[in-house]
Amino acid sequence: MTVEFISVGTEILLGNIVNTNAAYLSEKCAALGLSCYYQCVVGDNEERLAECLQAAVKRSDFVILSGGLGPTQDDLTKETAAQVMGRKLVMDKHSKDRIKKYFDKLGKEIPDNNWKQAMVPEGGIAIDNDNGTAPGIIIEDGNIHVILLPGPPNELIPMFEKDIIPYIRQFVPGTIYSQTVKICGIGESKAESMVRDLIDGQENPTIAPYAKTGEVHLRVTARAENVKEAKKLLKPMVKELKSRFGACIYSTEDDVTLERAVAELLVANKLTVSCAESCTGGMLAARLINVPGISEVFKSGYITYSNKAKRRILGVKKATLEKFGAVSAATASEMAKGVAVLSKADVSVSITGLAGPDGGTEEKPVGLVYIACKVKGNVTVEEFRFTGNRNKIRESSTAAALGLMRRCVLEYYSKVTFGNGTGEQGRK
Ligand code: ATP
Repeated sequence: MTVEFISVGTEILLGNIVNTNAAYLSEKCAALGLSCYYQCVVGDNEERLAECLQAAVKRSDFVILSGGLGPTQDDLTKETAAQVMGRKLVMDKHSKDRIKKYFDKLGKEIPDNNWKQAMVPEGGIAIDNDNGTAPGIIIEDGNIHVILLPGPPNELIPMFEKDIIPYIRQFVPGTIYSQTVKICGIGESKAESMVRDLIDGQENPTIAPYAKTGEVHLRVTARAENVKEAKKLLKPMVKELKSRFGACIYSTEDDVTLERAVAELLVANKLTVSCAESCTGGMLAARLINVPGISEVFKSGYITYSNKAKRRILGVKKATLEKFGAVSAATASEMAKGVAVLSKADVSVSITGLAGPDGGTEEKPVGLVYIACKVKGNVTVEEFRFTGNRNKIRESSTAAALGLMRRCVLEYYSKVTFGNGTGEQGRK
């Protein structure tokens, strides 16, 4: 079955807002097993919107429109949809009562034009909006389903999750179920080459690689009659991926981020942690501190940007800075050792690098980053060569530091070997 999206709003056409609704709906509908061949953005213009909708209902089973359900003159999605589908607009009593309740709760008078939001194309199904006044609307015409959703993501997403997904599910044969295998420490192209044979021969389940900064996600998706069957189909493929990527897989759970995996590893092993950052300016500490429960193990984070700070706070030797420079394996190592002495943490991490855009040389180009991780007496230093702008280099460094911490702790405490895992793109 096919789905098509029409995002309505001149602000989207002008680039004033990013079309996050389309990205969200695309991902959700793909997971529901719908194929999407067309998406369109159209301004607040009745004629052009009608043209888009006429074309869409001719070729797609589900047409999902977002935006333009508000109370003002330029909100004309519902009126246009009613006209294209040959329906009159009629008052929906339930929606009218909800709008009244919504304003009563706010202690406000109902503006006249808000009543317009309780009008529904005849025969249409109004969908409650728990976070605003505009109800969603479903118009069915034979096998075609036109779904109108409000533009604000905080209204669209809960409505889609609560009511539209179960509605669509009734019509899609079988179930689609996915599991994501999350990998760090291996670059995208290497990871892809390691599963190329599986992708080439894939039918059900399928594997889709997604590159994230410092990580690669492999989404394995199976289509089956029910979730139990789908999970059964996924199992051997996930097992195969586990045997290929080994310890480089940090999770197969949707809600586990890399920083959460690292934090859980530290908490599980009762290991305290501190970090000293130069070019990332606190990004590593911020990612770790994002994880609830990190207070059990996180001791301190230092931003030692200047050479003076590296010397005075962390005790990096003047001779090291002069001989090797601030961006060097020797400095990274002394930073990690220094922060370990200062904070008495079990695990200490340091990052020093050139984020650019200026300051690069042939010997030390922009993107050169050293990361050190000290676990008890063991210090590991890695050199990375990242590409991209200043922010990308800083983000890549932060992700690489999390990956290195995870690897060093696992190697030290669990005696895990990373085998295939040592092939990070950008690592020398
Ligand atoms: P309202 O009742 O708030 O007027 P609406 O259904 O009429 O809602 P729009 O007026 O089109 O929706 O958009 C309202 C706001 O919702 C926009 O200013 C924007 O912030 C957000 N929005 C609309 N469409 C999108 C989109 N495709 N992606 C992300 N945000 C969007």
